[in-house]
Amino acid sequence: MTSRGAALGGLLGSAPGLVFGAWAVVQNPWFLDRPWLFLGLAVALPAAALAALGALLDRRPAGRAQLLWLAPLHAALLLLFWPRPGPDPVKLLVVGVDGATFDVIDPMVAAGALPAFAALQGAGDRTVLRSMEPMFSPLLWTTMATGKPPEQHGVRGFFTRSTDCRVPRLWDIAEDAGLRVGVYKWLVTYPPREVPGFMVPGWLAPSPETAPSTLSFVKELELANRLERRQVAARRGTVALALAGIPHGLRFGTLWAAFRWKLTERLERPGTDDRQVAMQRIRGQIDRDVFVHAVHAHQPDLATFTYYATDGLAHRFWDAHAPGPDTPPARVAAYGEAVRDAYRQADAILGELMARVGPDTTVVVLSDHGFRAFRPGVDAAPLVPLTERLQARLGAQLGRVQVARLGQKLTVTAEEASTDALIEALAALVDGDGAPAYAWEPVPGAADTLGVELVVSARDAAALGAGTVGGEPLADYARLGEPTPGEHDGAGIFIAAGPGIEAGALPREAALLDVAPTLQALLGVAPAQDLTGRVLLGDPRRGPESRDGLAERFRVEGGVEGVDVEALRALGYLE
Ligand SMILES: [Zn+2]
Repeated sequence: MTSRGAALGGLLGSAPGLVFGAWAVVQNPWFLDRPWLFLGLAVALPAAALAALGALLDRRPAGRAQLLWLAPLHAALLLLFWPRPGPDPVKLLVVGVDGATFDVIDPMVAAGALPAFAALQGAGDRTVLRSMEPMFSPLLWTTMATGKPPEQHGVRGFFTRSTDCRVPRLWDIAEDAGLRVGVYKWLVTYPPREVPGFMVPGWLAPSPETAPSTLSFVKELELANRLERRQVAARRGTVALALAGIPHGLRFGTLWAAFRWKLTERLERPGTDDRQVAMQRIRGQIDRDVFVHAVHAHQPDLATFTYYATDGLAHRFWDAHAPGPDTPPARVAAYGEAVRDAYRQADAILGELMARVGPDTTVVVLSDHGFRAFRPGVDAAPLVPLTERLQARLGAQLGRVQVARLGQKLTVTAEEASTDALIEALAALVDGDGAPAYAWEPVPGAADTLGVELVVSARDAAALGAGTVGGEPLADYARLGEPTPGEHDGAGIFIAAGPGIEAGALPREAALLDVAPTLQALLGVAPAQDLTGRVLLGDPRRGPESRDGLAERFRVEGGVEGVDVEALRALGYLE
């Protein structure tokens, strides 16, 4: 028999958590992914505390006040059984898994560790997606989205934004055909543009704009919680960001994981490797949450989701994933599963997305390139350009010159000479064979600056010692950098399942240029004749001669200048 005080206290204690839970699940039916944890922490715990307090204050027998317990009990049951929406009628779901390779997938599928990958390739077909050089993700994802090679789409260098893409991409063409689109973290989508649906830019974005702007909390959280890079202060506090995110998909389990990680960070001060693993994991959870919700809220015909931990963690931990005789056992013990865990998370997300779409949806999983170990003595170590000698040499000809290094790239600004004069001076710096030692490209938004890259081929100490730049020792202009344990490999993946796709439907190998025409055909839009790739699946008939004119129509201006150079560095593109 409880007392009146206990009954009243229990009611008061449980109310805030229950009201909050109701607010959350009404807007985000996926919020309670860990209902018992939520009910325990946010409802039962405060209810028990206030009931104990109430029991001290008012010891009279509860009598009919006992019935007060029924209200929170019913409310909790309602939360537990809150209905989840049925599948969304997406026409084409494209899941990008950056750097994914069958070399990791196949043994894991055989061991039963990747049920979604297994189900997808079992239901449809798969092939190797052959990548192209240079294997630089922003360029490759743009080639897949456009069906045009880099010479034509124009996205080649590091200083790239969506406005540099000169030809229409998959979602432009879909929108033109009257379809709704949802693009989640495809590379080179910053600045984002308003679409019938949603667009959340990928990791190169230097600031948090999204379309619609209600999703910018994702990018704010990402930019404010980066490791090894300059953090961009969020416009809102972490609690405000979490509250902004709950109605747009953030789940309790994700918030709980993030909270626990923040606590671990405070108490144990983990090293950078541990922090990378944890942050990639939480980022994957956040992305899944927001994408699932956005697809339901916006009902796109074309939905794309891209997952990057399979690339980022493979660069960093490939040596632990596939250890050699020299790999320290402690490293294998600590990080031997980091790469496979990323594939497990990709598989869990893929499984959830497959369950969220209908039987008429075609699901395509692809990667921009594969992965393999760095081969010492065979692969080139990165050549890191030095600034001092180059600055002095150019300065002697051109007056004041600024040379700054961004990883393996330089920016060169001639303050007292024209850009033409600067180009002329750079062109004169030839290697031992008489070829230019540097390549250059314009930097958007900085007319007096060039992005400059050392293109000499020396990749070991001997070649470095023998090489020259403009008649001077190469060693004054460059040093050898540290390679990352994992390297991009040419064999990416392409898996597809959906209506009419049967085993044997795909050729033995596909090319990046085949992706755009194939995805367009799967959307029911006849690909333009100027796309040189093949239509691997769906109706092979071709449409108009070209759709390049669409690029101008969908052009967007605005956003912050530049790209996220520090993000490039953290992913190993730059030293
Ligand atoms: Zn990579």
